[in-house]
Amino acid sequence: MSGVEPRRVPLVVLGGGPGGYPCAFAAADAGLEVVVVDDSDVPGGTCLRDGCIPSKALLHISRVISEANDASEAGVTFPEPTIDLDRLREWKNEVVMGLAGGVSQLASARGVEWISATGQLLDEHTLSLTTKRGEQSLLQFDRLVVATGSSPVWPPQFPRDNSRLMDSTAALDLPDLPSRLLVVGGGYIGLELGTVFSSLGSKVTVVELAGDLLAGADRDLVKPLRRRLENQFDAIRLNTSVESLAVEGDQVNAVLQPEAGGPESATFDGVLVAVGRRPNSVGVGLAEAGVDVDGVGRVVTNEHGQTTRSHIYAVGDVCDGPMLAHRATADARRVVASLTGQLVPGGDSPVIPAVVFTDPEVAWCGMTETEAKSLQRGVEVVRVPWVAAGRAHSMGRTDGLTKLVIDPESRAILGAGMVGVGAGELIGEAVVAVSSGLTTTDLGEAVHAHPTLAETLSEAADHSERQAIHLLPRRR
Ligand code: FAD
Repeated sequence: MSGVEPRRVPLVVLGGGPGGYPCAFAAADAGLEVVVVDDSDVPGGTCLRDGCIPSKALLHISRVISEANDASEAGVTFPEPTIDLDRLREWKNEVVMGLAGGVSQLASARGVEWISATGQLLDEHTLSLTTKRGEQSLLQFDRLVVATGSSPVWPPQFPRDNSRLMDSTAALDLPDLPSRLLVVGGGYIGLELGTVFSSLGSKVTVVELAGDLLAGADRDLVKPLRRRLENQFDAIRLNTSVESLAVEGDQVNAVLQPEAGGPESATFDGVLVAVGRRPNSVGVGLAEAGVDVDGVGRVVTNEHGQTTRSHIYAVGDVCDGPMLAHRATADARRVVASLTGQLVPGGDSPVIPAVVFTDPEVAWCGMTETEAKSLQRGVEVVRVPWVAAGRAHSMGRTDGLTKLVIDPESRAILGAGMVGVGAGELIGEAVVAVSSGLTTTDLGEAVHAHPTLAETLSEAADHSERQAIHLLPRRR
């Protein structure tokens, strides 16, 4: 690098995902000159390239297939679908590239410079850039936002570099459809992608170390999902670990270790490893810049998103907090507010919803019932099963539940959870209710259109106040 003259820029955003690019755009909108450095040719980060968008595009197709199957209940049958995997892959890529093109357009319209290169901090004001062709340059910055995201965890005992063993990125490339797919990990990524492969024809086995799927969600929300997946998947093995994987020819031999009993051997045609993600903080030069990370590699930040070097900020998956795209974007808004000396939008801790896009979907926001219990906080919980919702019946999908977690004194809605078709859309209203401090009276008295699933929210609120119309009278 010696002899390379650094170029001076006021603000650099390192990473162009849903943490990085909204940060750059909002900074540019506020009049700052900003450069984004991202190591991919496709802007939008993990979310757009290898995460939210391609997975939801494929899940949309899964839903079409499953709705076509479910219609047989009403006397309408379709022939078995024919899957043109090449076209499906191409369509999914078109969705991704269309949105990526949109991000590029929005960047140029704002005058945001986008550099495709890998960035590495040399010190607290210098970033070295290396392009894929090996060209090197230096940026000297006044302020920098680290938005490098996260990558899939790969357990060291599993072999790598075999196309039969996939992480979520490889699985979303849809290389082929394994007849028997082992999914290691019963978190949201494993279940979403397991759903995709299963609906396209793979026999899916999910192996999860814990005693249930989706750690972090209330158990009553997980139950309807588990019930449906037990029918859809070949097997769900809980309290079981995958001890080893060995590829032999076209097959993968797995050794499973249930909590009780001896090891078991099983054979699959492909394996998806979805056991979590780790922050991309290695190789970024954080130590050289004096930026601290915690014991698991997450960049340490304060409430303004500042790291241990106050002119260097961090947002998104690389920091502590839920690894979700909208959370990264919320971080970005807070950082730009701090960079431009404005008030923190949405207070110090915005309500971050979680959505699992399985069938049925699971969604929650604010305080969960489990959290209230662990904090020993007295709350009132009201549940509305979707058998009480006309809309759920009209869709043939009464396997849902809406619940509210309520402060018994103020009647404020502290949290909400739901499971059912479209729960991911429905949670939006609950986010507004929780973040605006609405009470059960506010929500219960707001007139909701009939027949909609959103009525389950107002009925839950109503039921906590008096007697909801479509629920059985309470025993006195
Ligand atoms: P990223 O999106 O990871 O972006 C970081 C960018 O920085 C990347 O482009 C990376 O290549 C680049 N980069 C890293 N290091 C460097 C470097 N040294 N130099 C230059 N560039 C660098 N979240 C949701 O909210 N909803 C979902 O439905 C959802 N589904 C998901 C499904 C899957 C299969 C996966 C894997 C993730 C999903 N997520 C979802 C999570 C979501 O993708 C992440 O939370 C989100 O992308 C984090 O945004 P970020 O900006 O922090 O990082």
